[in-house]
Amino acid sequence: MTSKKLPFTKNKTKEIIKEYPTPFHIYNEKGIRDTARRLYRSFSWAPGFKNYFAVKANPNPYILKILAEVGMGTDCSSLPELILAEKVGIKGENIMFTSNDTPAAEFKKAKELGAIINLDDITHIPFLEEAAGIPEIICFRYNPGSLRKHKGNVIIGKPEEAKYGLTKNQLFEAYKIMGEKGVKRFGLHTMVVSNELDNDALVETAEMLFDLVVEISRKLGIKFEFINLGGGVGIPYKPEQKAPDLEYISKKIQKLYEQKIEKNGLAPIRLVMECGRAITGPHGYLVTKVIHEKHIYKEYIGVDACMANLMRPALYGAYHHITVLGKESKSKTHIYDVTGSLCENNDKFAIDRKLPKIDIGDILVIHDTGAHGFAMGFNYNGKLRSAELLLLPNGKVKQIRRAETVNDYFATLDFLGL
Ligand SMILES: *Cc1c(COP(=O)(O)O)cnc(C)c1O
Repeated sequence: MTSKKLPFTKNKTKEIIKEYPTPFHIYNEKGIRDTARRLYRSFSWAPGFKNYFAVKANPNPYILKILAEVGMGTDCSSLPELILAEKVGIKGENIMFTSNDTPAAEFKKAKELGAIINLDDITHIPFLEEAAGIPEIICFRYNPGSLRKHKGNVIIGKPEEAKYGLTKNQLFEAYKIMGEKGVKRFGLHTMVVSNELDNDALVETAEMLFDLVVEISRKLGIKFEFINLGGGVGIPYKPEQKAPDLEYISKKIQKLYEQKIEKNGLAPIRLVMECGRAITGPHGYLVTKVIHEKHIYKEYIGVDACMANLMRPALYGAYHHITVLGKESKSKTHIYDVTGSLCENNDKFAIDRKLPKIDIGDILVIHDTGAHGFAMGFNYNGKLRSAELLLLPNGKVKQIRRAETVNDYFATLDFLGL
């Protein structure tokens, strides 16, 4: 089994903890930049390639700013996410608005910002028209249902059972209606995988969209401006897993682009993505301290973080690797459940995990929390959200979100004048 490396040492972590008490998430800026650049390098052949970072994966202005500097836009799906992008200075068609079950006010804001609106349903055409008017450019989200060869996975489910997108027949109708309303700029989107590690599944998604673009363009005589492959590129949460091979995926997609888009005279069509997890996920760490050990029918290690800081293990049974700082080379002689303090028995970061002997005061680093980690946090049981820190390329650490206080937690309450 290969190990997972950390961008900081035990001593460095101890220094950080002196200033910022545990628990906290810390993100490695250099890692994020390198990964972002690598994605762009892999797809440098693709006309106008752009990744719209899925804001929900890590909604922090510093992170969005770093990604904007590398050339990324944002993929937003709510009003606060749109405002966040706006505040960071990301505007216009650098914002993709991929929402579902969308309130009118959110369409209105997206249109005001000049974002590319990606509609999730055919009935959203009149809804959007009423809420904000018809935009100059429009995208639709495709749900292939059972037409998709490669089946979905535990996070996103099978396409035919997923709530997202339009059916194939509806798509033809939807572009036709938009054409009649005077729209001339079109995009097509799908997102049928999540945390996908299979290279060919991602290639298949591109192939499916290319075929569809050919079919729709021919039938309706419309010109597509971009194809949005969605997000869903996976990361190796387990040390023995392998990251998807972006260069391989890109090469295969390039071949398909030549065969299907260029040969049919449809080029250039911009290729875009909405990756969140693959960009920031591997570069975030939840740092937490062991405050209790408990020996009953099983061995428990109690830490000062809980599932309010990282919900994925409880929500999906997801694996997150754990390093006991300073004990990296010790043999894994013990089997523990690593728990948080929530009054819910699924508040566990690991179940039956083989780890070195752990002592109270040890610092645990929970890996791969840079996407869908802090962002999924909540206040149940009166749990407060942690701070977020950024490890800068020069080795310094910057707090990019302070920890919540009880006053934050009480801010929306009315104590009846007490
Ligand atoms: C969540 C989401 C993404 C990002 O998914 P990742 O797994 O973080 O890449 C992209 N697009 C849409 C529409 C999403 O809902």
